[in-house]
Amino acid sequence: DNDLSDVVAADKAHVWHHLTQHKPFETSDPRVIVEGKGIHVWDAKGTRYLDAVSGGVWTVNVGYGRESIADAVREQLVKLNYFAGSAGSIPGAKFSEKLIEKMPGLSRVYYCNSGSEANEKAFKMVRQIAHKRFGGKKTKILFRERDYHGTTIAALSACGQPERHMQYGPLTPGFVEVPHCLEYRKQWDVEDYGQRAADAIEEVILREGPETVGAICLEPVTAGGGVITPPKGYWERVQEICKKYEVLLHIDEVVCGVGRTGTWFGYQHYGIKPDFVTMAKGVASGYAAIACLVTTEEVFDMFKDDASDPLNYFRDISTFGGCTAGPAAALANMEIIENEGLLENTTQMGEYCLTKLEELMEKHKVVGDVRGKGLFLGAELVADRATKEPVAEKLAQQVVAECGAQGVMIGVTNRSLPGFNNTLCLSPALIATKDNIDEITGAMDVALTRVFG
Ligand code: PMP
Repeated sequence: DNDLSDVVAADKAHVWHHLTQHKPFETSDPRVIVEGKGIHVWDAKGTRYLDAVSGGVWTVNVGYGRESIADAVREQLVKLNYFAGSAGSIPGAKFSEKLIEKMPGLSRVYYCNSGSEANEKAFKMVRQIAHKRFGGKKTKILFRERDYHGTTIAALSACGQPERHMQYGPLTPGFVEVPHCLEYRKQWDVEDYGQRAADAIEEVILREGPETVGAICLEPVTAGGGVITPPKGYWERVQEICKKYEVLLHIDEVVCGVGRTGTWFGYQHYGIKPDFVTMAKGVASGYAAIACLVTTEEVFDMFKDDASDPLNYFRDISTFGGCTAGPAAALANMEIIENEGLLENTTQMGEYCLTKLEELMEKHKVVGDVRGKGLFLGAELVADRATKEPVAEKLAQQVVAECGAQGVMIGVTNRSLPGFNNTLCLSPALIATKDNIDEITGAMDVALTRVFG
């Protein structure tokens, strides 16, 4: 029975939806997704969609309906569903070993529940290190224009998307913004843009005083801020700067992590040696709520029990960071990626998809730039290629709706500020085939013609 009218009425009456999802309240005919298999989802009326955004927010990396993950979770839940994370668990230990195999140079996994929380844990560690090692001075944390790190107040204070802050102040002090590195919207007219954008970080460190800056938190490929791949040479220079000023490097892999860009982690494309890596969405592809903060033995050692300092240890806990379903699901998720060669598929299909987007750019002058890495891609829409004036948000949304009408779900950066809300986003499951990519980009072609002629 697919009649969901009672459910929709209850939803309308009682559910407060996330972010833009106030819209279902306003629609007379809301699209309720009730089932998924592989790369497809079905709404309550039985209409099938190709989901090119992996659950809306780049999450369902291995696709829907995975029996092996469901089985692993069920088996674990009937054996032991919960015991506080401080006590450890069998799936927690097993998954940490498997994860660390993929992250040379790092060795410690701290479990929690959301990307925001994982980032907050890293911020707390940075602050505590400042107090333990640097006389309470190196407490500042740099973040970058356009990057996003979460919804809690400190994570929000590290967010480079202005409208996210509005009306939520006062924010947490000690977070300082550095410029972004989006070459398409240049802030400096230079040849070596990667070097210049990274130098801008050094300028901020020098302005603030290196003795006050403890860490910098960056997305390897900026996600919601516009699908921004870094310019050549950028990361090498960032790494150098961090080393020079003893600034810990925190890479936010909440979106890019666990295969999305064709490597296990986005930072691994660029030879970066991070001190902290945070991850959430793709860790268990949405089959369980799990997030991780991964760090080095060096950082871990700074918090070792020390009888002379009763405040030495990391005084932090996460109740549901002890749920055993999370690492059980994460382990099965990682096995799927390995057994099915999904990193290779992501690289190949990502390259193919980028070529198809380039073809769209040739055909439609509203497409000003296409960019991305692996199966994480964007197409920025501009009213005028010379001035790069963004198209109105409404028009970008119309393209999304026209794709939906053809049975293909794509996304758009939705930041309600011009320059942030005009990039179409693709992030299909890592199992995407050539036919899937053809269907997605074919629908985009038709949609762009319908909206812009
Ligand atoms: N970092 C990045 C890069 C994100 O995109 C997000 C969520 N969109 C977060 C952190 C926050 O994750 P969560 O919603 O799980 O708190």
